[in-house]
Amino acid sequence: MKIAFIGLGNMGGGMAANLVKAGHEVRAFDLAQPALAAARDAGCSTFDSAKEACEGVEAVVSMLPNGAIVKGLFENEVFGHAPAGAVLLDCSTIDVATAKSVIETATSQGYDMVDAPVSGGIAAANGGTLTFMVGGTDEAFARAEPILQAMGKAVIHAGDAGAGQTAKICNNMLLAITMIGTAEAMKMAEKLGLDPQKFYEISSQSSGYNWSLNAYTPLPGVGVESPADNGYAGGFATPLMVKDLRLAMEAAQTSDAAVPLGARAAALYEDFLGAGNEGLDFSAIIKTYD
Ligand code: NAD
Repeated sequence: MKIAFIGLGNMGGGMAANLVKAGHEVRAFDLAQPALAAARDAGCSTFDSAKEACEGVEAVVSMLPNGAIVKGLFENEVFGHAPAGAVLLDCSTIDVATAKSVIETATSQGYDMVDAPVSGGIAAANGGTLTFMVGGTDEAFARAEPILQAMGKAVIHAGDAGAGQTAKICNNMLLAITMIGTAEAMKMAEKLGLDPQKFYEISSQSSGYNWSLNAYTPLPGVGVESPADNGYAGGFATPLMVKDLRLAMEAAQTSDAAVPLGARAAALYEDFLGAGNEGLDFSAIIKTYD
C-alpha cells in the first residue's frame, strides 16, 4: 500500500520503518529535519509538508504529541488532500473528546478513520511488537487492522470512535495506581524488617500479584530485571505517565466517573515530576518512600 506517515519521533520513526519492512511504500513527513533524515535512511520517501505526503495514498498514519496537533493536522493537511476513501489511523495518545470529534469530521468527509493508541514503548515501536487498541466502526477497523499488524503484536478492536483512547488512559491510570501500591507495600515491608526479595517472592505468587510487581519490579536487584536496575533510565518516562494521567483526569471529569485513587495517583505523579524527575522511568516513584 501507499501510506503517508506523519510524526516520525521516538515512536513514529520505528513504526514507519516497520511499514517499509512489510513492503509498503511510505511517504513520510515530520517538522523536524533529523526525523526526516532517519526516515529516509529507513527507506521512506520524505516530503516538505503533510499535504504532499498525503497525495495519492491509500492510508494515513499519524503519531503526534497531543490532541491539538492531531486536530490541526487532519483538519488542515489531510482532509481534502488525502484521496477520498483513504483510511486514516491516528496512533497518538490524545484526549477522548478530540479523538471522537476528529473521527466524526473524517467520517463526514467520506474517510474511514480509527483512533489506535499503543501500549509499549520505543523498543516495541522499533521491534514491531506494539499493542494497538482501536476505536472505530467495524469497517474502519477491518481496513486499519492489516496496517497495524505490520507494526504490532496485538491489534484489538475496543469499540466505537474514541474507545481506543478510553482503553489506553484507563489502562495507564490502573498502571499508575498499581505501581504506587507496589512501591508502598515494598517499602513498608522493608521498614518492618522484611527482605524486599522475600516480599517479592511471596507477593508475586500471592494475591498481591500484579504487573508492576511481577514484570516491572521497581526496586534495583529485586524481582525481575527492570529500569530500576538501570538507574531508572529507559522504560516509560515519568512525563509520559503524567500526560496520560492528565488525560485520564480530564476524561473522568467529563464522564462524571469517580476516580479517588486515580486522582491521588495523578497528584503523586505531578509532584514527582515537579520535583525534577522528568528524566526517570515512572517506577522511580518508589524513591519518594525513602
Ligand atoms: P516525539 O516527541 O518523540 O515525536 C513526535 C513527533 O511529532 C516529533 O518528531 C515532532 O517533530 C513531530 N511533530 C509535531 N508536530 C507535528 C506536525 N504538526 N506535523 C508533523 N510532525 C509533527 O513523541 P513520541 O515519544 O514519539 O510519542 C508520540 C505519541 O505516542 C504521543 O502521543 C505519546 O503519548 C505516544 N506514546 C509514546 C510512548 C513512548 O514511550 N514514547 C509510548 C506510548 C505512546
